[in-house]
Amino acid sequence: MRWTQFFIVTAKETPSDAVVPSHQLMLRAGLIRQVVAGAYTYLPLGLRSLRKVEAIVREEMNRAGAIELHMPAMHPIELWEQTGRVAAMGDVLLRLHGRGEDWRSRTVLGPTHEEIITEHARTYLNSYKQLPVNFYQIQTKFRGEARPKSGVLRTREFLMKDAYSFHTCKEGPGGLDEGYQAMYDAYCRIFSRCGLPYVAVEADSGPIGGDASHEFMVETDAGEDFLVKTDDGSYAANLERAEVAPVADAGDGQDEPLKLVSTPGHTTIEQVSTLLGCAPSKMIKTIIYVADGAPLIALVRGDHNVNEAKLKRVARVLTLEPADPALIKNLTEAEVGYAGPVGLSNVRIIADQAVTVMHDAVTGANKTDHHLTGVNPGRDFEIREAADIRDAVPGDRAKNGRPLTFRKCIEVGHVFKLGTKYSVAMGAEFLDEKGASHPMIMGCYGIGLNRIVAAAIEASHDANGIIWPASIAPFRVIVCSLDVREAEVMSVSQKLHDELESAGLDVLWDDRDQRPGVKFKDADLIGVPVRITVGKKGLAEGVVEVTTRKDGQIRKLAPEQARAEILRLLS
Ligand code: ATP
Ligand code: MG
Repeated sequence: MRWTQFFIVTAKETPSDAVVPSHQLMLRAGLIRQVVAGAYTYLPLGLRSLRKVEAIVREEMNRAGAIELHMPAMHPIELWEQTGRVAAMGDVLLRLHGRGEDWRSRTVLGPTHEEIITEHARTYLNSYKQLPVNFYQIQTKFRGEARPKSGVLRTREFLMKDAYSFHTCKEGPGGLDEGYQAMYDAYCRIFSRCGLPYVAVEADSGPIGGDASHEFMVETDAGEDFLVKTDDGSYAANLERAEVAPVADAGDGQDEPLKLVSTPGHTTIEQVSTLLGCAPSKMIKTIIYVADGAPLIALVRGDHNVNEAKLKRVARVLTLEPADPALIKNLTEAEVGYAGPVGLSNVRIIADQAVTVMHDAVTGANKTDHHLTGVNPGRDFEIREAADIRDAVPGDRAKNGRPLTFRKCIEVGHVFKLGTKYSVAMGAEFLDEKGASHPMIMGCYGIGLNRIVAAAIEASHDANGIIWPASIAPFRVIVCSLDVREAEVMSVSQKLHDELESAGLDVLWDDRDQRPGVKFKDADLIGVPVRITVGKKGLAEGVVEVTTRKDGQIRKLAPEQARAEILRLLS
């Protein structure tokens, strides 16, 4: 491909609204252009990478036995009503705006396709003989993300590969476990082939949604999730899921007496800790929720945060919402900000394990403008339920005793054992050998294609630009012709270009009449893995230069040797 016949728009300046490297570089290298918040045009160069990712994903899905189909982005809202997900999705579910009750008001744009595929399964699959089966598509998703950010890492319109498997059983041949493992393995191959340094971690699957879920994470400061892992890699989990070792009891056996202290207008941990001169870690945070319609109180240390995913699992509830001030007042007989566990009965309280070993703590007194000091769990209030219900923090250890480290990361893929949530809600059943009817057991598996492209750049770039993994580079080789008015330079360049293309590599030929500096800068910015420089001076010495983007290493070779060397470098 000749540069002058293609469409490449590079920019020297870093756009001011782009913060993370992949966003900056994708804009500068001319891979994407934002059309509106959360929606991008893929320019020809960017599209080439996206298509390469797509090809890898498709190849590995087919290899794993999944069958491709294509479902629409427009969904009838009725299907979403059948699973109760109109409410669960909230603003993420984008709806068309119709006049009155016309078809538009009954249409939504699919953020994911469980409902549509389950309807498909309900229609076509009815016998155990048709199972297991796995359907996938590579299709555009729409989500009303509140804050699209970081370029194509989080957008409102993106390309997802989503797969859904249907089984008659969980375990054994053809069961969900087997199908899940096949997808897990396919994902590992996909991310390795895309050159992504990924970590597969256990993720939260929510209280329903089955018993297993793994996320594939790439470490990057541009991410919004946290990867929690031990230094030796023996344990890794999403922060939502990461378990911590119990905190030891450091009591000295000399507990203080309980005391009511006046704290007028001081309602937050920070305010009370400043006023009373006690560290937040000496305070008990009392958080009141409504869980499945009933009040639920969570106790954590003042320097810890409740992990709502854990709390839901421990409490065995599906919904968890913060209580409103009226309920808080009703329960505690105090204004918001003075709640505490002492004297609160008739309400379910779950304490974090770290609270159970606290001594002489400070907490709300259930009396407006007052707190209690010298609070000792067990003595001053009974703990009926204790568990790990908080986020891990630096200083915590994993259950195996190793210290935990925290890294920002981004999820590139997710595999999920759904169980029968959707098949039960939508009546997708099969008949077994004896003619008895059962709901199908399902798994679902998603990969964000745009995120793979951006995550690869996050993981591999330098001050000069992108350093593509060869497998997903828009072009694998760039031929830089320095003196385009020299016939020999052009004929050698053309020959190299043609030979490498016939060897199966995609080659970009920079045939612009530009200064070498401009060409080299652009080649580095767009990150082509191998550059061949053909110039008058080199040819006079009988050589061209082969430079690798990754390490900048230069090899001077005769043009006829260059081809073999490049094939070797890219193999
Ligand atoms: P996140 O927690 O980052 O919002 P998610 O849990 O909502 O992700 P899934 O619903 O599991 O993501 O979607 C499957 C895959 O789709 C994700 O692993 C990710 O790669 C991609 N993806 C999800 N949301 C977006 C988005 N807004 N923009 C780009 N890709 C996305
Ligand atoms: Mg999301």
